[in-house]
Amino acid sequence: MLGFLPRHAWAGPAPGGKRLEAKQLLASDPLLTLRAIERISVPVVGLSGEAPANLNALALILGKPAIDRISAAPSPAVRSVEALFRLWLHSLAAAVAGRRLAEWTGIADPQEAYMAALLHDLPAWSALCSAATGTLPPGILHWTRNWRMPESVQYSWQACTFGLDGEPPEDPTTRCVMAAEAIAILAGYPHPHSEGIEGGLLDDIPDEVTRRLLETCDRELETQLSRIHLPLPALRCPPTEDRLRALEDRDRIPPPPPFEEGIVRCLDLGASDRIRPVLTTLLAASCLYLDYDRSFFIQWIGKSRRLLIRSTFDRTAIRADRRIFVPSDHEAEFLGRVVGAGQPMVLERDPSKPHALLDHFGSKACLVVPLSGGSIFHGFLILDQEYSQRSPRPEDILRAQALAGVCAQAWTSVLLRRNENRSKRQAQTDPLTGLFNRRAAISLLEREIKRSERNRKPMAVLMLDLDHFKDMNDTYGHLAGDRILKKVGAILRSSLRGGDIPCRIGGEEFLVLQPETTVDESSLVATRIFTAVEQAGQAMQMPITISIGVTDLRPEDTIDTLLARADNALYASKELGRNRFSVDAD
Ligand code: GH3
Ligand code: MG
Ligand code: MG
Repeated sequence: MLGFLPRHAWAGPAPGGKRLEAKQLLASDPLLTLRAIERISVPVVGLSGEAPANLNALALILGKPAIDRISAAPSPAVRSVEALFRLWLHSLAAAVAGRRLAEWTGIADPQEAYMAALLHDLPAWSALCSAATGTLPPGILHWTRNWRMPESVQYSWQACTFGLDGEPPEDPTTRCVMAAEAIAILAGYPHPHSEGIEGGLLDDIPDEVTRRLLETCDRELETQLSRIHLPLPALRCPPTEDRLRALEDRDRIPPPPPFEEGIVRCLDLGASDRIRPVLTTLLAASCLYLDYDRSFFIQWIGKSRRLLIRSTFDRTAIRADRRIFVPSDHEAEFLGRVVGAGQPMVLERDPSKPHALLDHFGSKACLVVPLSGGSIFHGFLILDQEYSQRSPRPEDILRAQALAGVCAQAWTSVLLRRNENRSKRQAQTDPLTGLFNRRAAISLLEREIKRSERNRKPMAVLMLDLDHFKDMNDTYGHLAGDRILKKVGAILRSSLRGGDIPCRIGGEEFLVLQPETTVDESSLVATRIFTAVEQAGQAMQMPITISIGVTDLRPEDTIDTLLARADNALYASKELGRNRFSVDAD
């Protein structure tokens, strides 16, 4: 955590097992709130609209998991712990006083006043923590320019930092914050670097209100601290560096499960026939087993310079948005080097260069892992720990490579299997109707005959042939003929049960295999089919009819004898005048 509080103070389970509320965490730690504002300013976090003006709104946007991770980040190095503690109590006292003042006088929104007062000393926080390496950007101008700061917060810290030249501030929230700061100082929570208060700040406030604020300040502060299970009296005597360090060793985020488990999970992907589970598993595994906050899978879009975020896993449960972005030249060149090296590399911010990718994800550094299996390059896995404010570790490189390697192989085999299945399917399918072709029909028939004999179950077959189809072609043209064939294919599919197998075995000849079906059941289906074909003909205004022969499998049957009998039955239908079915059964 950037603020010194959570790691030192609220590490470990809360008394009574109650979970600390996200809003209460924010409300008690200005630096945590500051980091939360930084997070919601990241493009990929995908927020639009107004900056949240109070802590409830901020907590709602980020959610508890994100705030937990932010608060688990290491504390920055601090110039003076004592000064930081005083500044913290000062800010908190100003916040509780600001909220009450707004409430009692109605000059501002109480929740807005709380947030603005909590953050009114931003520059001082920055100065006290400036020994920190990279945890706080150097100047507050950067924050106001790049972060989604509510206006009331900006006005307040500007007024409190640069003074007012004797003019009362125009913004009511700022007026409230300045008065609240004065109350905090009078109530015994001074600013670490300036003891006095500007005269006149309290002039507008009725004496009675000032008196009540001073009286209640301690109690309010105590209440606020009790919400995060901190006792005010203990905090009033500043803790020593030693005591702080002892507290810091506790960590609220559980350690990651063993890495080997992640590899086993990815190896399980071997049998998958879709890419999505491969990606999901890879992204989740790299977060869980390598202990990263977020992972993204990005791919170049065609040959363009744009990158697409194809998949995201975020332990803070925040959905990524703005899925397409253009990396800077420097980053594009870096990605090229990663592919060339064939192993993960750390992309770090170089202040002298633009960083569209890092900016997009809001990362200071991320691990870029190339994903290629066989000779196929799939894309990049991007891992970052920006919420918990940590950088990729050297040992992550090998382990990320191992995870990515297993998943990339699974990915490549999905692609190969898919190609194989596609050509197999093509070899078995009649392109016009999408039904099985003659070759497939024969081998399926062979399989079904064996199965039916083995299971001692009946089987029926239907042989179908369109009537006077030559004439139809001659009258309506070959294209109309094709349309009719397609329609018959559709009718067959919709008239049959799940296990039945429709095939087109010749020009206008079809065969239907019906496993586990008796001739009587099959005759019903035959009736349904020739009726449906006749009706389709009426709808298409063409005299389309079909003749059908039905038979069943008998002992000693071969494919030839079975089909010959079906053919005989069909011939009988033709002889009897077509548009009907005949049965050749025992
Ligand atoms: P019958 O009622 O006795 O079955 O008469 P028929 O005209 O249907 O029988 P015949 O076997 O003489 O003619 C089949 C016709 O089917 C010949 C051919 O032009 C047509 N045919 C075969 N395959 C296709 C095809 O893929 N598309 C089209 N449009 N017609 C086809
Ligand atoms: Mg025919
Ligand atoms: Mg024919």
